[in-house]
Amino acid sequence: MADYKAPLREMNFLLHEVFEADKLWARLPALAETADRETADAILEEMGKLAANTLDPINRSGDEEGCSWNDGVVTTPKGFPEAYATFCEGGWGALVGNPEFGGMGMPKMLGAQVEEMLNASNISFALYPVLTNGACLAIDAHGSQELKEKYLPNMYAGTWSGAMDLTEPHAGTDLGIIRTKAEPQEDGSYSITGSKIFITGGDQDLSENVIHLVLAKLPDAPKGPKGISLFLVPKILVNEDGSLGERNAVNCGSIEHKMGIKASSTCAMNFDGAKGWLVGELNKGLAAMFTMMNYERLGVGIQGLGASERSYQNAIEYARDRVQSRSPSGAKQPEKAADPIIVHPDVRRMLLTQKAYIGGARALSTYVAKWLDLAKYGEGEEKQQAEAMVALLTPVAKAFFTDRGLDCTVIGQQVFGGHGYIREWGQEQLVRDVRITQIYEGTNGIQALDLIGRKTVANGGALFELFAADVQQFIDDNAGNAELAEFIQPLTVELQRLKDATAAVIEATKTDPNAPGAASVDYLDLFGYVAYAYMWAKIASVANGKDEDFYRSQIKTARFYFARLLPKSQALAASVVAGSDTLMDLEEELF
Ligand SMILES: Cc1cc2nc3c(=O)[nH]c(=O)nc-3n(C[C@H](O)[C@H](O)[C@H](O)COP(=O)(O)OP(=O)(O)OC[C@H]3O[C@@H](n4cnc5c(N)ncnc54)[C@H](O)[C@@H]3O)c2cc1C
Repeated sequence: MADYKAPLREMNFLLHEVFEADKLWARLPALAETADRETADAILEEMGKLAANTLDPINRSGDEEGCSWNDGVVTTPKGFPEAYATFCEGGWGALVGNPEFGGMGMPKMLGAQVEEMLNASNISFALYPVLTNGACLAIDAHGSQELKEKYLPNMYAGTWSGAMDLTEPHAGTDLGIIRTKAEPQEDGSYSITGSKIFITGGDQDLSENVIHLVLAKLPDAPKGPKGISLFLVPKILVNEDGSLGERNAVNCGSIEHKMGIKASSTCAMNFDGAKGWLVGELNKGLAAMFTMMNYERLGVGIQGLGASERSYQNAIEYARDRVQSRSPSGAKQPEKAADPIIVHPDVRRMLLTQKAYIGGARALSTYVAKWLDLAKYGEGEEKQQAEAMVALLTPVAKAFFTDRGLDCTVIGQQVFGGHGYIREWGQEQLVRDVRITQIYEGTNGIQALDLIGRKTVANGGALFELFAADVQQFIDDNAGNAELAEFIQPLTVELQRLKDATAAVIEATKTDPNAPGAASVDYLDLFGYVAYAYMWAKIASVANGKDEDFYRSQIKTARFYFARLLPKSQALAASVVAGSDTLMDLEEELF
């Protein structure tokens, strides 16, 4: 297995050359003092070291050993507590946190790249701080001043971690039917009773306390999603002076045994009249949780990207090293018994597919993170536009990065032939680890429904128009550049294809309620392929005319993407407009 090397050159290129992050940071008052190019580069370099030297080395052993549960106590694999302590000592948990409560206030554009390295080196480990980050965001955005002061500093420090408790045995996608109850108490707190399952980091031996954000309903709450409230429920109660007090009535009943991310504890949590505090307004819990979710969903998408990058690094090293058969165009290394497999066109197809999906995802995650930063730190119309872009692009990033993440890790396994199926090389672990990213945080099917339904049909395509206008602006800006025509012309065609598909689904929905659901997954994929085409064209526009190997590699990968991957859009567009008849015609008993 290759040693993990943080792709710092690619990250710097995107941040500074493609998206000119420092110009954006300089004009946003909240970021002008904290973020600049030098700081960003130093942060990325340090995380690269932590990922390579501390987290990557315990990835495989963590998978082999897994977490264990004994009489209510969860133990993480060897090396995890020490690695977590190192992570906290480095102040990493505070990176994007609110400076008022001890955070560093760094932009998400930077945070997203840090997350990629965390996930590439060790998804299981990454989940602990990533969930804490999300919980901090929800508390910061919706919690009272008292809750923020009491909890955020220790959560940013990593001394206390966060967990997100939504799912119940009978309620996953449909949270409107949750049964966990919250009863108001005289002291202003709530008594929380119920069972949650599949709670990532619900308990572990890394942090002193676990702060659960729990969805529950008051006894008289309206039925469905409009009756859900959000509560902060600590594992150990916190005294007035901030010290830890009594154990709360929150217990981990068991942990799951699962396909991958074995070093991440997935807990069944029991709340037996546990003391909790309301976060945000009563019955507006789902909306409060969505604050966290937009960040989390991009974060889950980035898990797909990280696993892809790790798999690619292994595959490229193996393809240079493994010798089998001769090149079709004549021996390339006649002194050896056979040529390295990287000479074969099909192996190159596999490696380039990984490289092109990874480059597209890394660029799109930086682009979405830019909108997240503008939504958080911008003002007026620009802030509103950014919020709309985030709403539209978040489901695309979550589902497309993770679906392509599975593709990429399976391809990376295939490059190894039979050795990819054997544990020793690490490629099969990446396939197993990344698979969950298509399922949790809202399945990819639900992301696709969100994109086509709430984000597109519901507003007559208004949000989509914002994205389309941004792509069109780029096309117009580069229309006169003959050297970029090979990218700009097909991008123009693809944008029109996506516009036509969008209009067709909006129209079909007027007479067929099944139309959005029938088109949804193919529509999200089509959107993803066009969005990556936009990213690769942007990359090519910056790399164009520069003679360094790095830039030539970008242009050549962009060409591969446009010639070999983007044409999938034609088949997807055909499926999008095929309607719902063939899906709904087959009688249930004939399945
Ligand atoms: C390892 C792991 C970690 C997790 N971590 C957490 C966590 O930290 N916190 C937490 O709260 N939860 C967590 N989950 C739960 C996870 O988010 C849910 O499993 C997921 O949201 C799906 O819910 P479900 O399993 O109940 O599937 P269901 O909701 O039963 O869905 C089953 C299938 O039906 C489809 N479906 C459902 N409704 C519709 C619809 N309206 N239209 C079309 N298709 C539909 C789904 O897409 C899916 O394919 C975790 C799960 C796992 C396995």
